[in-house]
Amino acid sequence: MKGVVYLGESEVEVREFDQPQPGPGQVVIESKMGGLCGSDLHKYHSSREWAKEREGMISGHEPTGIVAEVGPGVTNPKVGDRVTVYHRTGCGHCVDCTSGRPTDCADGGAFGRTQDGSHADYMLAEARYCLPLPDSITFEVGTQLACTAGTSFSAVSKVTAHAGEPVLVFGLGPVGMSAYLYALGMGYDAIGVDIHPYRLDLAKRIGSGTVVDASKDDPTEVVNELTNGKGVRGVVECSGSDAARTQAGSVAGRGATLVYVGSGKPQFPVNTGWLIGKGITIRGNSVYSYADYYAAVDFLQSHDVPLDGLVTHRFKVEDAVEAFNTFDAGDTGKVVFEW
Ligand SMILES: [Zn+2]
Ligand SMILES: [Zn+2]
Repeated sequence: MKGVVYLGESEVEVREFDQPQPGPGQVVIESKMGGLCGSDLHKYHSSREWAKEREGMISGHEPTGIVAEVGPGVTNPKVGDRVTVYHRTGCGHCVDCTSGRPTDCADGGAFGRTQDGSHADYMLAEARYCLPLPDSITFEVGTQLACTAGTSFSAVSKVTAHAGEPVLVFGLGPVGMSAYLYALGMGYDAIGVDIHPYRLDLAKRIGSGTVVDASKDDPTEVVNELTNGKGVRGVVECSGSDAARTQAGSVAGRGATLVYVGSGKPQFPVNTGWLIGKGITIRGNSVYSYADYYAAVDFLQSHDVPLDGLVTHRFKVEDAVEAFNTFDAGDTGKVVFEW
């Protein structure tokens, strides 16, 4: 089978691998769709030394597919089941793992980083990381749920606003764009902010909220106008930029929740005048839990959230060099490998 490996310094290579065999507790998944993530670009840009240490490990952590084979002792999932795979791995025994947050496990890793990932015709995974993908949810959406749209669902769910109230999302990459679409689906008056022309156009095409180009318009002024000076009830900050992190406080209204998702500099100044005066709650969000995944799937089955529209570029795994080049150039929504 074919699989993708990082070579470092913005190069990948497609290599021939033996098809994996499932051991006890493991399954082999026939890949259907596997996304490229912003964090894959960090690995793509890393050094030759880093890539060499991985000894040809397969990239990718946004898997979807059909279970092709199960190892000894596996009763769930079954051969033929549609699944996504939770992309972080853990010890399987600690309180974080057993409460559905392997991402917090002290002994944690990730597909495509510490073990073979999803950019291959077949993928080996422990059965306990497989999450059921109902027939009504497309592989396009499933691959996003495995990482970006799982994370954004968890983040938007931390906003304590009511339907009809304004919620603003900074940064319209795959995490922020899906947050913006969820916010609309939840009935919020959603506002999406970015500076990248392609992303702004895409947000206008697939969403029905207000889109603000922060390179031209000051988000705080736009929000003041839209809300008669009241500010928004929730902010989901996905850009990681200092400017947006600060503006999150200035666009916030009384009692607003600010959820910080985008990683940037580890520290930035907080305006405590706003924090105290407006009674703001600040929350962080890293990845998502198994419970968030099931809640997102339920939500998507009963609400109109056009996440499929976020997939703008599709490649065969053989064309991984072009896929990574295209994604790295920046004028894309979600880029996926499709089988
Ligand atoms: Zn990801
Ligand atoms: Zn653990």
